Amino acid sequence: MNKDQIGDIVSRVLNQIRSGEMPSRTDSMPGSPKGVFKTVDAAHDAARKAHEVLVQMPLEKRREIIANIRKRSAQDVHTLAKMAVDETGLGRMTCKVKKNLLVIHKTPGPEILQPTAWTGDNGLTLMENAPYGVIGSITPCTNPTETIINNGIGMVSGGNAVVFNTHPAAKGTSAYAIDLINRASIEVGGPENLMTCVQTPTIESAQELMTHPKTDLVVVTGGGAVVKAAMRSGKKCVAAGPGNPPVVVDQTADLDKAARGIYTGASLDNNIICTDEKEVLAVDAVFDDLMDRIEALGAVRLRNHQITRLEKLILAPDREHINRQWVGQSPSKMLQEIEVPFKGDPRLIICEVDFNHPFIQLEKLMPVIGFVRTKDVHEAIDLAVEAEHGYRHTASMYSRDIEALHRMARVINCSIFVKNASNYAGLGLGGEGYTSFTIASPTGDGLTTAKTFTRQRRCTLSGYFRIV
Ligand code: NAD
Repeated sequence: MNKDQIGDIVSRVLNQIRSGEMPSRTDSMPGSPKGVFKTVDAAHDAARKAHEVLVQMPLEKRREIIANIRKRSAQDVHTLAKMAVDETGLGRMTCKVKKNLLVIHKTPGPEILQPTAWTGDNGLTLMENAPYGVIGSITPCTNPTETIINNGIGMVSGGNAVVFNTHPAAKGTSAYAIDLINRASIEVGGPENLMTCVQTPTIESAQELMTHPKTDLVVVTGGGAVVKAAMRSGKKCVAAGPGNPPVVVDQTADLDKAARGIYTGASLDNNIICTDEKEVLAVDAVFDDLMDRIEALGAVRLRNHQITRLEKLILAPDREHINRQWVGQSPSKMLQEIEVPFKGDPRLIICEVDFNHPFIQLEKLMPVIGFVRTKDVHEAIDLAVEAEHGYRHTASMYSRDIEALHRMARVINCSIFVKNASNYAGLGLGGEGYTSFTIASPTGDGLTTAKTFTRQRRCTLSGYFRIV
């Protein structure tokens, strides 16, 4: 598909959604989106039927469904990325292509679910990973299709079906991804409605889904409010919440690597990813050198009154909240607004501020990074722990001092700790290991996979099958 064809599809689907035309699926409307329902009840009933069919099918069929979901999503990745940018107004198309391909290829499938067995004089005991049934999942606007593909592959690999309550600001893009995935399942003989969603998602429909008597597990990905709501749902929940990832740079660091890592990491998708670098604590001995190197890569460094102008633009008047209008916007848009000259398409804005500044303390979700000068590495690590606010989400450090790296790993105690690379390496992008876009720090699950979405079930046979 060429660029124009992608553009045509995206504008057609988005126009349909904007004019409220996205119809709920009925058998008399074979061309309408698959998996999109008017009510939570209808979405739930359809997903339950799909789950019951799925668990009767051979595991080989499940593997085939997952393989086809990967294939079809990869074929449509440019449309998914463009739709997300056009509908939400957040981030960058090229970054969204990368993020989608990451979840398509590096989300673990059914192969991660290995049973454990013990045999001995008393016989055989098996630990198996059983499905929950129907999962209710709440998704963010910052990674709309990435979360659906990532959750979807993990949940279906575990034998579940899922009802999504997607972010209202990304409902069209999300419905498009859900339709695509259902078609991929049907195409290889899998059930339809393995993934469903509510046509017009709201906070109320999210609450209804989380407390629905037939929801077997609640999974949420978003800010603090939805995490609290999930914990109040009365159900077992897997909650992935906000972060404020600090980066520590000490005097032993490879400064070129640190500058490149911070520049590319903090600018990924205009910094709307929860794991993206949000503030830097660098020791005085290398501070200026580090700033110079990041500037040389293309970042725009603000000073004095320029910082004040940016504060007025991207912070709320109380300076305790961000101005959400600027979430996920590009540096050039911000720089134009505050009348700071720039060349080309800079990816990052940097500035030196003190530790208590909102650019350090708030989760901004914008390509703006505050830098704090510290006297030594111990002060940098202590301040990083404070700036992370106990989310235990993500942190990183550039250093060759093994003692200092060890200390930071222990005291920051995050789900992801990256050493000498961009934070996205911790998501498996240029780093080893699988990926996840639901990093459930509040409930301690960390980077979720199909394992997170299964129940541990023990099966004991007395007296037999001790072969050795
Ligand atoms: P958001 O919290 O505004 O929305 C997330 C979802 O929760 C949406 O579907 C929204 O409708 C729903 N929601 C919000 N408040 C709710 C409430 N009180 N009751 C029920 N549902 C509610 O988040 P966003 O702007 O879409 O995403 C950005 C936030 O999500 C950031 O804080 C980011 O750090 C976090 N996030 C975390 C992870 C992770 O893996 N830990 C991944 C992505 C995003």
